[in-house]
Amino acid sequence: MAAGGSSDPEEKGAGAGQRGSCLCGGVVYRIRGPMRAVIECHCTACRKTTGHYLAATQAWTGDFELETADSLRWYASGPTSRRGFCDRCGATLFFEFSGSGKISIAAGSLDGRTGLTTAFGIYADDKGDYYDLPDRRHFPAASDNRAPLPPREK
Ligand SMILES: [Zn+2]
Ligand SMILES: [Zn+2]
Repeated sequence: MAAGGSSDPEEKGAGAGQRGSCLCGGVVYRIRGPMRAVIECHCTACRKTTGHYLAATQAWTGDFELETADSLRWYASGPTSRRGFCDRCGATLFFEFSGSGKISIAAGSLDGRTGLTTAFGIYADDKGDYYDLPDRRHFPAASDNRAPLPPREK
């Protein structure tokens, strides 16, 4: 994906990284770098904020650029974490640990084909009782080291 990138700074189409957006278009972002495999999180906080559970990829913040952030708001979900959402359409978009250098991105907000696969689920013990876990591996807590974000290319 990054390999075919255009050198034209005006280029906003295919080849300029992975684009993503919220439902209303008030938040548009682009990732120009590697993306982590998708991890599903069944923790209570992710279930509350999404209304079900969170399926998220991750990128280096240095590879992440907001093209439009008119309706982006951040909620301090913990002393060192925040969640980004659209205050117009309500989309769940981002999760960030302050100072981590990485941003988790709701996979459903990515536009078009992503080439990603889902690696596993975490916090399975916190899942709701109204659904069955997908048929994949699950771990009791955060497990980023099992599906690390590839290093930056530049
Ligand atoms: Zn929106
Ligand atoms: Zn979670």
